[in-house]
Amino acid sequence: MQDMFENAKRVASTAVERAAWEADKVRRASARQREIDLLKRERSAVIEQLAGVLLDLNRRGELTQAPLQAIASRLQALDGDISHGDSEITAIRNETFVPGTISINVQRKDDPNALTSTSSHSSGHLACPSCGRSVRRSAAFCSACGAKLK
Ligand SMILES: [Zn+2]
Repeated sequence: MQDMFENAKRVASTAVERAAWEADKVRRASARQREIDLLKRERSAVIEQLAGVLLDLNRRGELTQAPLQAIASRLQALDGDISHGDSEITAIRNETFVPGTISINVQRKDDPNALTSTSSHSSGHLACPSCGRSVRRSAAFCSACGAKLK
């Protein structure tokens, strides 16, 4: 009887100890995770700064290394796409309702024409007229060579 009691006590204290150990493990991992998240945020900020320096050097024609020029072109293309997208959003938000311009049809999901009446921008890719690489149809600039597409 005494042995059983001692045994139960030992099992219980091991369980308590294990729970504390698990909690400590979780606590340490998440503390470390928070530190890493901060480091990643700082890293992004440094990269953002680097991008600014690159774009600036490129604008002044002082970027001579081809790999850096390529990165600057891609950055410029992405920035162009972002600001183009931003102005598209502004344009969409400023659209006013004109009755009778949208046809509302109940269409089947697999109807190939389902989207054509509601979306004028079809998805997909086009070939860049400058470098021939595949670019998003909605892109304002080529993401490979930076050529203006619109
Ligand atoms: Zn191109």
